Amino acid sequence: MAHVREAPTEDTVIVSHNPATGERIGEVNVFSGDDVERAVADARNAQKAWSALSFKERRRHLLRFRQVIVDRTDEICLRISQENGKTLQEALMCEVLPTVDLLTYFAKRAEKLLSPKKISLHLFKQRASYIHYAPRGVVGIISPWNFPFAIPMGEAIMALLAGNAVVLKPSEVTPLIALFAKELYLESGMPPDLFQVVTGRGQTGQALIESGIDMMFFTGSVRTGKRVAQECGARLIPCVTELGGKAPAIVCKDADLERTANALIWGGFANSGQVCASVERVYVPESIHDRLLEKVVQKTQSLRQGKPDSHNTDVGAICFERQLSVAEDLIGDAVEHGALIRTGGRRKEGDGMFFQPTVLEGVTQDMRIAHEEIFGPVLPFVKVKNIQEAIRHANDSHLGLIAYVFTQDRVKGRGLAEQIESGTVMVNDVLATYGMPETPWQGVKESGVGFVHTDDGLRNMCQSRHVHYDRLMSLKKEPWWYPYSESRFNLLKKFMNLLFLLYED
Ligand code: NAD
Repeated sequence: MAHVREAPTEDTVIVSHNPATGERIGEVNVFSGDDVERAVADARNAQKAWSALSFKERRRHLLRFRQVIVDRTDEICLRISQENGKTLQEALMCEVLPTVDLLTYFAKRAEKLLSPKKISLHLFKQRASYIHYAPRGVVGIISPWNFPFAIPMGEAIMALLAGNAVVLKPSEVTPLIALFAKELYLESGMPPDLFQVVTGRGQTGQALIESGIDMMFFTGSVRTGKRVAQECGARLIPCVTELGGKAPAIVCKDADLERTANALIWGGFANSGQVCASVERVYVPESIHDRLLEKVVQKTQSLRQGKPDSHNTDVGAICFERQLSVAEDLIGDAVEHGALIRTGGRRKEGDGMFFQPTVLEGVTQDMRIAHEEIFGPVLPFVKVKNIQEAIRHANDSHLGLIAYVFTQDRVKGRGLAEQIESGTVMVNDVLATYGMPETPWQGVKESGVGFVHTDDGLRNMCQSRHVHYDRLMSLKKEPWWYPYSESRFNLLKKFMNLLFLLYED
């Protein structure tokens, strides 16, 4: 019988299993509200000394952390694979490499990006204004299980470089990886209390929001995200939410079908489809539909699914039992309403949690599978009359994280991309921009509010504070100060009229 990750019954302990084998691989404590408060207080204490260091010193510390990550890459990949079920190559390519690259990118630039920024004043030329960036204090991170290393560590590294402390509440499905990240962090000689990991379930996350943190980065489902945003709103804590996705892929008649087919299977099946950016619906015009579908089916059937910790496996395990049922339910509903399973379609028998890479033909926009997040290795094909219909369907969603367009015409590709309601649109490629730290990762609609990464993302780890002064340090009274009078009123009015005259088009 297939292994099902047990729902832990103990309130105080979470047991973690290898999803590919069912083997128990460890357990962690559930942090209570008091534990979380203590962790936040310790982090806040450590942050004082950390924020007093120069950028160069902070950079030196974090580059040592980078070195430990690089030195222990093989072990990190193996541990990610064992707890999360992704393949070794995915652990390297989608977790370790982007984290190391992000650290390098921001370590090089943090000092410049966070140095005071001058604002030129258009009227008051003798005055000066500037923004300076002060660390927020303690940044809270609540993260999901699908990228248990790259998502929280990318955010943590940016927060630390900016001078903050970090308290991370990892997913209860993959807590061991977060604790291993803390081990690597300690090994690098970073200040121990500055980065805290508080393991637990939703209640521990809730306690983190209530603990007096200064900012929250939440990544997870729309349902929890709305709740977290509400809780943060009640405390006026800035909150970035990175939520679900339902990425459409729009294939134009002039697309290179070979590249498109390769991109679709990687975009649909990498990480066993458990990516917020996974291709979740494919819109194809009638004239190329069958040719593309056949290619995709054939390529899907050649994928090797199995032991994630083997270098010769393409598709690994499903990390979280719930996703098996979600995929079965949505496929079942689609088939009931006329869709055809062209390959795959069910969980694999035997040990571990695996779902066969699946291609569905004949999906229509009114089916649940065209709207609800699958988060599993399923590619639903929807035939469309033309590209405008594809755009309408793509936008017919409550989510808007990322979308894909396939065409060989650069101008058309950009034109179509701009018509899609989505935080990011990639042309002729899939998934990859999360790993590019200078580009924004952001959702529109219910895919979230705010963004991570980018130079502005680093600045957002700080309070931006405004300082304004008179360059000549004039001690004269300003004309708009007391006492008011009619003559002063008329003088100000003349001044205003003159201004508008000067600035007339
Ligand atoms: P989830 O919402 O169930 O859990 C996410 C985190 O929230 C976990 O750590 C969980 O313990 C915590 N949590 C649960 N209830 C809470 C509460 N009341 N208060 C505070 N914290 C609470 O999501 P999941 O199943 O772990 O992740 C899958 C979802 O995440 C998918 O919808 C996927 O699309 C989304 N996701 C989005 C992105 C993105 O960048 N947009 C990236 C990865 C995953």
